[in-house]
Amino acid sequence: DGRLEAVKALITAHPDFPKKGILFRNIFPVLRDPKGFHTLCDLMVEHIQSKCSNVELIVGLDSRGFLFGPIVAQRLNIGFAPVRKAGKLPGETFKVSYSLEYGQDSFEIEKSSVKLGQKVVIIDDLIATGGSMKAACELIEMAGADVVECYLVIELVDLKGRDKINKPVTSLIQY
Ligand code: IMP
Repeated sequence: DGRLEAVKALITAHPDFPKKGILFRNIFPVLRDPKGFHTLCDLMVEHIQSKCSNVELIVGLDSRGFLFGPIVAQRLNIGFAPVRKAGKLPGETFKVSYSLEYGQDSFEIEKSSVKLGQKVVIIDDLIATGGSMKAACELIEMAGADVVECYLVIELVDLKGRDKINKPVTSLIQY
């Protein structure tokens, strides 16, 4: 219906950022455009309503998952919980380590933010190697909840990130 193309046209590509050889996809020009940002959120909400109507919690990944997750959760009238890099969340947390290109990082979620058996959709801006989303799925499972879908605005298809994830993966835009 042209809405997806309108959003896609706003995303910019930046060669050799943040390192030589990387083509960085930037979603911030979408947020700069109120109509484009509204359309993007509409598309996300419509998909989740039709394919994951049983969803009870939206989880967003540090940090660009926080741009979309709370808006989508509000529109669906359900809660939002952040997955953050280690050391940022208070109280008791579940924690999981994951590999980066160089070294390791950890994600955490507040134990109190996820309920046993809850149906969760995880949202992030982009899937590359899939390491972040895989770690997030592990966290939600550790919490005893159920990932019904991993939802990405952008998927870098050649990197085959979705093959690492044993949950349904949906992306709005593919490169
Ligand atoms: P992965 O763990 O390799 O799948 O990388 C995904 C994470 O890195 C996401 O949280 C993205 O925000 C970030 N990322 C990787 N490549 C890009 C890019 O080209 N643009 C924006 N974010 C990126």
